[in-house]
Amino acid sequence: MSRRKISIFGVTGSIGANTVSVIEGLGLDRFEVIAVSGNTNVAGLAKIARKLHAQIAVTADNQRLPELRDALAGTGIAAAAGTNALIEAASRPADWVMSAIVGAAALAPTLAAARTGATIALANKECLVAAGPILLAEMRKSGARLLPVDSEHNAIFQLTCAAGECPIERLILTASGGPFRDHSLDQMARVTVAQAMAHPNWSMGRRISIDSANMFNKALEMIEAWHLFDVAPEQIEVVVHPQSIIHSMAGFCDGTILAHLGPPDMRVAIGHALSWPERAALPVERLDFVALGRLDFEAPDPVRFPALDLARAAMSRGGVSACVMNGSHEVALDSFIAGHIGFLDMAAVVGEAMERLDGLPKANDLDDIFAVDAQARRVGRDLVKRFAA
Ligand code: NAD
Ligand code: MG
Repeated sequence: MSRRKISIFGVTGSIGANTVSVIEGLGLDRFEVIAVSGNTNVAGLAKIARKLHAQIAVTADNQRLPELRDALAGTGIAAAAGTNALIEAASRPADWVMSAIVGAAALAPTLAAARTGATIALANKECLVAAGPILLAEMRKSGARLLPVDSEHNAIFQLTCAAGECPIERLILTASGGPFRDHSLDQMARVTVAQAMAHPNWSMGRRISIDSANMFNKALEMIEAWHLFDVAPEQIEVVVHPQSIIHSMAGFCDGTILAHLGPPDMRVAIGHALSWPERAALPVERLDFVALGRLDFEAPDPVRFPALDLARAAMSRGGVSACVMNGSHEVALDSFIAGHIGFLDMAAVVGEAMERLDGLPKANDLDDIFAVDAQARRVGRDLVKRFAA
């Protein structure tokens, strides 16, 4: 049997590490690793590239190319750096490509991989939020298949496979509620980066952990679901489910609700995307319902978690509104991490950026998206200055 050719973008991150772990579990000899990528952690990137016997390792950071070259000397693994190198690596023929770079930086390499017609395991959600229609159109053109890796969307994908041709009546995205589910608005105004990063159920990268604490993650996921599944914004609901055991649900016209349950472990979604349409055994925890005892649900509070309404506004405005939301949100998030603005200011910055940039023309290609993204970041930075003052 020929080995499957795979590439992993963002291999040094949380999803990247879980992907490597799943691949090792399934047997490294079954895969031929084409490309792996990282950013500042060049030592980590080189270590993984050696372990996976990758053809090429790419760091996004141009300054670190000499360091990467040194770390790979004598291995026969090529080293490269920068955005163009990422795009070139993503354009190399592969059967399966993991898109797990964080943020809009994933856009260009993911689009390049999509153009090759590879199966794209999409962990990165910002790509779909910022440029969903463009990315999906390219995938239709090349015949690339998209397998969602974000746990909620992977869950819904699995449910749609089970439901066959039946149209979905409602999609119910579950949200853990994050570490501040029971905090007052006053308490939330004062939380630190470390507190915002302490997710109760999932172990994830820094940014998505903070995004889970103010539900920006769920807001992005609503838009992601809107692009991935054939539903209108009104059909997408969010319910807080603190145990993170149900990963999402789909309702149908006869009142049936299908739910996907599993341990809160990203290896389940990654393993599914890597094995689809089959299922491979994974060494993850098996659920014990008696030990769990109960599953709880509550409505998200729109006052403490305004991000959800921002997502609804982005979808109803349409056009590039979600791209503005994403770009200004990345700036606001970086500013919170840097200690320049407070936790609640993030949503305020994004809301105002979306107001200011309402009515921009529709994007026709990735260059239009990059222009809107840059504009959203400029406005975001302006607003951050005001909130920081
Ligand atoms: P992470 O911060 O742990 O890792 C991010 C990866 O992207 C690293 O390899 C890093 O080197 C790379 N990277 C960072 N900035 C870059 C840049 N400018 N250019 C190129 N590469 C860059 O993030 P993560 O938690 O693994 O999340 C990755 C993506 O998957 C995000 O879009 C996130 O929303 C999504 N996701 C993550 C999880 C999770 O459990 N971690 C779950 C669902 C979805
Ligand atoms: Mg998710």
